[in-house]
Amino acid sequence: MNKPRIPVPARFLSAAYLSVIESAESTQTCIFSAEALVMMKDIAAQGYPDEVCGLLIGKADAQGWQVSEVRQVENLNKERAADRFQLDPAGYQAIDAELRGSGQEIIGVFHSHPDCPAKPSPTDLTSAWEGFVYPIVSVCDGNVAEVNCWVVTDEVSLGGKFQRLPHSV
Ligand SMILES: [Zn+2]
Repeated sequence: MNKPRIPVPARFLSAAYLSVIESAESTQTCIFSAEALVMMKDIAAQGYPDEVCGLLIGKADAQGWQVSEVRQVENLNKERAADRFQLDPAGYQAIDAELRGSGQEIIGVFHSHPDCPAKPSPTDLTSAWEGFVYPIVSVCDGNVAEVNCWVVTDEVSLGGKFQRLPHSV
């Protein structure tokens, strides 16, 4: 099977887009359970051609993030569902409350990029939190083409940018 071709819209080559990514990769890692990675890709592919989003559940430590589970959360941005996401805060709060005392917590937010590279946009940076991991799933023609994980190097208000975070299963 051929790897799907990933279209690169011109905005991804603009200075504004390039400026949100640092060239160095993170020295930490994101480790997914096999089920969590499959589920995240399935959610992204099934949502195509809309942009869908969800939460990562697991643990974080000095080495990085361990994802045991993923959950889809509604994308409230219906008007621009093809290229924007706004995670439903009620969905976030319900999962956060459910996890209290379980030893697991919300450790990140994933979203899909339909027919675009798995690279973050300036809009993605404005909503990113330090300490969370942000996987982006590129879905092209309905098939998952690429997954990249990102973290921010500092609080965004202090000039934090995205750094790619190696991931594995
Ligand atoms: Zn995005």
